[in-house]
Amino acid sequence: LKQAEKALERLAEIGELAAMIVHEVRNPLTTISMGLNAFKKLQLSERFQEYLSLSLDEADRLQRLLDQILLYARPQTLQRSHLELNSFIASSLSTLKTPSAALGKHLKLIAATAPVTVLADRDKLKQVLINLVTNACEAVAVGETITVRVQAIEHDQIFIQIHNGGVPIPVEFLPNLTKPFFTTKASGTGLGLAIVKRIVEAHDGELRIESLAATGTTVSVQLPLTH
Ligand code: ADP
Ligand code: MG
Repeated sequence: LKQAEKALERLAEIGELAAMIVHEVRNPLTTISMGLNAFKKLQLSERFQEYLSLSLDEADRLQRLLDQILLYARPQTLQRSHLELNSFIASSLSTLKTPSAALGKHLKLIAATAPVTVLADRDKLKQVLINLVTNACEAVAVGETITVRVQAIEHDQIFIQIHNGGVPIPVEFLPNLTKPFFTTKASGTGLGLAIVKRIVEAHDGELRIESLAATGTTVSVQLPLTH
């Protein structure tokens, strides 16, 4: 038990260190982005415009990376409350609809037939949905639909399933998907699923990822139902 406590303490220290580094890097990065943005007003040659837009894109990417490192490294202390999932997911998806529609991807919710209540951290569960829906959007072609299904299973468990078609995930990637920094995307951070896994496990839940050529990719979040 002593050793487990020590290991937890050490993890918390690493998390705090990561958070400190993120804060130290974030401020100068903001200054750099602001400086670069100011150059946009100048009449630049095509070549310099290209450098500028590349630099701005990279600064944005670093900013997102820092945000995600914070989400990942922070200790997962939960602020739990009773959440009715059908309505919670409907309202979370409505904020994701606009950015998805801008990319030409549609979101569809299949709610459970009866209300389902879980004891969960609202903000963290929303983060789970954001990360999973974002991945699904990035995986499908324009015009396709991403389906989110809420389902009560057995008498004490619920499923939230995010499904998308498109190219399936190669089997050899499956064990690596939730490892921090694993990405197949040119500008991915590889932290999306690592964060999801941490949050789901903090809720005593389970994360499963299935991908088949015939049916596409389904990511399932299983959580204990609250009676
Ligand atoms: P990122 O999105 O930054 O690459 P993630 O941790 O969110 O990092 O995802 C890791 C990898 O898992 C992705 O790069 C992609 O290869 C794969 N992946 C995740 N979700 C899906 C999905 N819905 N369909 C296909 N591949 C996916
Ligand atoms: Mg992602």
